[in-house]
Formats: sequence, structure tokens, C-alpha cells
Amino acid sequence: MMKGAFLYQSPPLRVRFGAGTLHHVSDEIDAIGGSRALILATPFQKDDADGLAARIGARAVGVFAEARMHTPVEVTTRALQAYADSGADCIVSYGGGSTIGLGKAIAWRNDAPHLVVATTYAGSEVTDILGETEARVKTTRRDPRIRPEAVIYDPELTPGLPVAMSVASGLNAMAHAIEGLYATDANPVTSMMAVEGIAALQNALPGICRDPADMSARSEALYGSWLCGTVLGAVAMALHHKLCHTLGGALDLPHAETHAILLPHTTAFNAAAAADALQPAARLFGGNLGGGLYDLARSLGAPIALRDFGVIRDDLGRIADMAVKNPYANPREVTRDGILALLEAAWAGARPSPISPERTRP
Ligand code: NAD
Repeated sequence: MMKGAFLYQSPPLRVRFGAGTLHHVSDEIDAIGGSRALILATPFQKDDADGLAARIGARAVGVFAEARMHTPVEVTTRALQAYADSGADCIVSYGGGSTIGLGKAIAWRNDAPHLVVATTYAGSEVTDILGETEARVKTTRRDPRIRPEAVIYDPELTPGLPVAMSVASGLNAMAHAIEGLYATDANPVTSMMAVEGIAALQNALPGICRDPADMSARSEALYGSWLCGTVLGAVAMALHHKLCHTLGGALDLPHAETHAILLPHTTAFNAAAAADALQPAARLFGGNLGGGLYDLARSLGAPIALRDFGVIRDDLGRIADMAVKNPYANPREVTRDGILALLEAAWAGARPSPISPERTRP
């Protein structure tokens, strides 16, 4: 097939993948040019971070286990102090997007080399994106300095990720890949990664639901999440990510679950306008991508309705107003009526039709 012109950039990044690769943390600290690591985690994963510190001995000079969702700047300020006090010369983030966000916030300020041991499917470890909150306002920036230098993906660290969180996090990862397919700066390499990532997660998530300790499914899900995260870090996102950001910020909704609920609807919204770009993914779902994603989410027990998260119907108009305020590239025109219809369907948990028709609120 004839390929159009494109720009592809491959950022420098080491990825060590496979069961048991946690054993290589010391090697990876050496590889990023560090020797004294401050290990970061959430309070929930503090024991694991302490265990890692014990395992690598003198290469760990401290554990800071106060990472929180949405990277509050006051936590970063304390972590920077801990970094300076400990005499660290690099960071190891052990966890998901919340911990990685803290690691990125530190590295962006002091240029510390950053190794991530990734334990969810959110994909932040391979992106140059940092979202931080201060005084309840979330600011997002992209900068090459934000991207970590190395990542370890060890599926043996993931069976403890609860099934519900695994499913929501996996659908969150799929969202990166689906938007990556119709991105204005998509290219054949990112699209190949996107389709491979979607297929891996589509195959792996049911296996995780059947048996959370299934190492083959865990490994495939982590592989898919790496590919989907790489797409997120490489190309521009559109309606789906903007809408999740608006909804999450305005109504304080959980990150991965919001992605999981909206994905079938944003995909159906764009399905006709981006039919060619989405075709390889649609084929994985029998031709109807929005409906297929909805059916997959339902079969996995994922949340499917915004109303189950305390969103009231009267909020939707305000969200639709906010969503059309700052224009951005999207395959289909983003109108207030179109967004409101999409939000109504997501609020009710309805299965999206292949092409969400433009309709006004009843
Ligand atoms: P998370 O990091 O908040 O983790 C959720 C909870 O699960 C935490 O308590 C964590 O300690 C625990 N956990 C993580 N891995 C575990 C495991 N293997 N076993 C048991 N418990 C585990 O969740 P997340 O969805 O990975 O991250 C969400 C955050 O990441 C949001 O703030 C979001 O905005 C951000 N994010 C950023 C990017 C980016 O590119 N900047 C991309 C995706 C998400």
C-alpha cells in the first residue's frame, strides 16, 4: 500500500521486559548513570518499595512513599527535599501513573535520571507528559526532559493489581492506541504499535478476569500497555483524552474508570469520520469498534455508566460547554449537541450505535 509522507521520532529509552526483570534494577540504575536512588511509591506500595530498597542495598539511599493521584505540587516539594537530604543522584519510581507522575515532577525540576518499574497499564512511564495539580488546578505539559530514561516491565509484579483496576487500566491503555490511530501526526509505526497493543489487551484482559495470577495474560497485558503508552507519548490525542480530562477535572472522577466508560462512546463518535484509520482496530472487534469496546468492557465487569460515579444528568450540559471551549483537532467536528448526545449515552451506560447521530437533548 502507498504510504504518505510522515515524521517518526524514536526517543532514547531503555525497556527491559519480562518475568523476573526486577532483578535487573541495579543494572538499570547503572545504565541511566545513577548510583544512589531515591525510591518512590504510593503509601499502598510502600512495603514493595522497602523490599526493593533492601534488595539493591547501597544503590538505594531512601524511600519516599507519599505519591498521590494527580501529582500535587506540595508532595513534589517534599519529595525534592527528601531527594536532596538523601544525597540521591537518580530516581526509581515503583508503581503506576501516580508514582511515575511524582518521579517525572522531580526529574523535570532537577534533571535526575529516572528509572520506572511499571506496575499498572496506564502507560505514563513512556510518555513526555506531566500533569500536576496546585490549588485544585491541573496543568499538563509536554517536554522531552519529562520522559523517564529506562523502564522495567516485570509481569510478576502485577498479579496484585486488583482485577477491577487491571480492567480499567487496560481500557485506559487501549484509549491511547485508538486515539493514536486517528491522530493528526499518526504514522505507520505508531499505528502498527497501536493495533498490536489493542489486540494484546483485548486478548489478555479476559484471561486476567478468569485468573488474576495467569502469568501469560499478565505478561501480554503489560506488553500491550507498553505499546499503547508509546503511542500516547508519540502522537497527539483528541476528543477522548480531552473529554476525560474535562470530566475528571470538573467532577473529580477516577482517571482510569472515566477512560473506560467514555472510550466506546468517543470511538463511536469518531468511527465514521476516521473509518480508514480505525479499520485495523475495528476488524479486531468484528467491524463495530464502539459497540465492540462496549461489549468487551461489559464482559469484563468494567464500569459503563457515568451515573454510577455520582455524575448527575444536569452536569452534562456544563461539561459539554467546557468541552467545546478550546478547539482542537478531531476527526469529526466537535459540536455541543454532538458532545451532549455522547455524554448522555455514557451517563446512562447505553451501548453506542456504530455512528452516534447528531441529536439535541430531549
Ligand atoms: P495509580 O498509579 O494511581 O495506582 C492506583 C493504586 O493501585 C495505587 O494505590 C497504587 O499503589 C496501586 N497499585 C499500582 N500497581 C499495583 C500493583 N501491581 N499491585 C497492587 N497495587 C498496585 O493508577 P494509574 O491508573 O496507573 O495512574 C493514574 C494516574 O496516572 C493519574 O493521575 C493519571 O492522570 C496519570 N497518568 C499520566 C499519564 C501521562 O502520560 N502523564 C498517562 C496515564 C496516566
